[in-house]
Amino acid sequence: MVPRLPVCWVIGAICFVGTFPQAEADRVVDDADFVNLFINKMSAIVSQDNLSGSSDAHHGCPEGFRFPSAEGAIRSSKLDIYELCLPAVVLVGRIYQCGECSKWHHGGFAGGWIASPEGHIVTNEHVVEKKSGEHLGIMTSEGNVYPVKAQCFSDKISDIAVLKIDPAGERLPFLRLAENVKPGEDISVLSHPGGRLWYISQGIVSRFSRGGEEGQPVWMNVTADYAVGSSGCPVLDDSGAVVGMVSRTSTIYTGPAEDKCGSCSSSKRSPQMVVKECVPLSALKRLE
Ligand SMILES: [Zn+2]
Repeated sequence: MVPRLPVCWVIGAICFVGTFPQAEADRVVDDADFVNLFINKMSAIVSQDNLSGSSDAHHGCPEGFRFPSAEGAIRSSKLDIYELCLPAVVLVGRIYQCGECSKWHHGGFAGGWIASPEGHIVTNEHVVEKKSGEHLGIMTSEGNVYPVKAQCFSDKISDIAVLKIDPAGERLPFLRLAENVKPGEDISVLSHPGGRLWYISQGIVSRFSRGGEEGQPVWMNVTADYAVGSSGCPVLDDSGAVVGMVSRTSTIYTGPAEDKCGSCSSSKRSPQMVVKECVPLSALKRLE
């Protein structure tokens, strides 16, 4: 005989099913939606500023920039590094008008990270070079867009720039600097490779190296993947502290070196490995 479920048990089961929280949906990042949101919100801000005549009313950084105390900064563990650090990793972009249509266009995207609750954004110097007519802004992973109000620091050699936005009294989630980092240590890069927004990759610190010529900065090599668009994004340790910042890549080829190659066909040179070169913690610590 098949045992019958008591009625109260069945009702209980229905209630349970009805109220049980659904398995957390995948966090889907819709790249095109984010790009459109950025263009729409930034163009509305720029048009509003033009109307009110405050377009160039830059709020300066009279006191420059120093990393604030780490109190209140995001602290993570390897398991939740993405969810916890996501709110402090931003998109840095620009909009412009082409002069041939009435639309606003975006002029490319890179990354950055929030370094103070008052809205200091650290990114690469090469990210913030802008042409006249362009308007620079940042967007958070929640879709909040802020125009850049001022540039507080900029250094071409170390490829560091610090921007200021106005969070209108809100205290923003921010990342802190790590104490130190060594080759072999686990790291994560949370960045936007090729417009794939908020993409995490992991690896280790490979080594610290210096460019060939005198006066060249030290770079931190990492094995975590990133690509064009990742510039300015943080390299994080397992506690969510910043140990470096994405800057550039260097591809290793087989075949004759480029300077000895002369007119030889480029097909004789094939790529073997892409070395990732990041701004090291020591360069960021000069702003401490
Ligand atoms: Zn146009």
